[in-house]
Amino acid sequence: MIYFDYNATAPVMREAREAWLTVTEKTGGNPSSLHQAGTRAALVMADAREKLAASLGCHPLDLIWTSTATEANNMVTHHFARTLGAQSEIWISAIEHPCIHDSAKHYFGKRAKVIPVTRDGVVDVDWITAEMADTRPGLVSVMAANNETGVLQPWREILAICQAYEVPFFTDAVQFIGKMPLKGLGDCDYVSGAAHKFGGPRGVGFLKIPHRKPITPLLHGGKQEGGRRAGTENVATIAAMMAALEVREKQMANNQHLLRGVWRDNFERELLRALPGTVVLGANTPRLWNTVSALMPEGDRRHQWVVRLDQAGFAVSTGSACTTGKEEPSHVLSAMGLKAAQAVRAVRFSAGWETTEADWSALLKGVVRVHTEMARAKA
Ligand code: PLP
Repeated sequence: MIYFDYNATAPVMREAREAWLTVTEKTGGNPSSLHQAGTRAALVMADAREKLAASLGCHPLDLIWTSTATEANNMVTHHFARTLGAQSEIWISAIEHPCIHDSAKHYFGKRAKVIPVTRDGVVDVDWITAEMADTRPGLVSVMAANNETGVLQPWREILAICQAYEVPFFTDAVQFIGKMPLKGLGDCDYVSGAAHKFGGPRGVGFLKIPHRKPITPLLHGGKQEGGRRAGTENVATIAAMMAALEVREKQMANNQHLLRGVWRDNFERELLRALPGTVVLGANTPRLWNTVSALMPEGDRRHQWVVRLDQAGFAVSTGSACTTGKEEPSHVLSAMGLKAAQAVRAVRFSAGWETTEADWSALLKGVVRVHTEMARAKA
C-alpha cells in the first residue's frame, strides 16, 4: 500500500516511537507529583515546552499541551465566547476546519462572520482590510494552510492588519507545522498544532496563547498547565511530538521540502496530460508541497476513485477525513465557488516526507489504470 493521505494523518516516525518508549519506560511519574519520578516527568515536559517555544518564537509559558488540535481550537472559540461582549463578532475564514467553523457557530451563531476566499481558495485580504476600517471584531481566525486544497494562506499579512487594529489573531497551523518553516508563527496571538500531521502520535497537540493574558479553561478539575487546562499531561506523547518536529525542522533547514514540491508538480503536470478534463484546485497560488486536490474528469465518482485506488494499492481521500462519507459538498470547495456537481469530483492526494518520486510515478500509473477501468465499466 502506498499512502497518499498524509493530510488526514501521517505514520508515526521511528524517532517519535523511540522517544515515546524511552519516556514511557524511564519517566513513569506524574509531572505534577513532587517526588523524583514526578520531577523527571516535569523536566521532560519543560524541555519539550522550551524546544517548541524556540521553534515557534514565543515564550515557553505561552504553550499549553492539549489532547488534539480540535481541543485547542475549541479552547479558543470557547474563551472568546466567554469573554467578549454580547454584541461582539468574531471573523473566521470560510475554509476553516469544522472544529473551528462549527464551534464558532455554536458559540457565536450569526456573530461568527465568515471571511470569503478567492476562487483559488485564498482568504480575501482585501475584504479584511475593507471591513476592518468599519468594524473591529473580537477575534480573527484564519488557518495557515488548508487541509483539503493545501493552499497557503496569507496569515502573515492578516496578522499585520490585526496588529495594526489591535485585534487578536488566531491561526490553526495544523497542516502547516512540520511541512513549512515555522518562522513568524509565534507572533500570532493564538496558534494550534497537532503531532499526528507530521509524524508524531495521534492524540497530542498544543495551543499557543499570550501567557500574560488569561484564558478561560475548557476543562476544569486540575491545576495542570498553570490552571489553564486540567488533566494529567501525556508526557510520552509530548516528547514524541517534539522528536518528530525536530526531524522535520532539520529536513526543512536542508530545503528537502522543495525537492518534494517538484515531484508533486511533475505528478500534476502528467496527470493533466493523461486525463484531460482534470482540474487541479488552487493551481495558480502557493500551496503546501505535498497536496493535490483534483476534480477528476468523471461525474460523482469520488468514492469509487477512493475504493478502486485502494484496491490498486493507494490510500487517497475525497477531501477532509472528518467530512468523508458526508454527502453534502465540502464547505471549502463551495466557498471557492465550485458548484455541487463539480465539488463531488474532488479527490485529494496528500503525500508526506516518506513519499518518494517513485511513489508519485506509481500513483500516476494507478490513477490512469483506474480511469481506464472505470471508462470500460461505463461503456
Ligand atoms: N485543523 C486542521 C486544519 C486539520 O486538518 C485537522 C485535522 O484534520 C484539525 C484541525 C483537527 O486536528 P485533530 O485531529 O488533532 O483534532
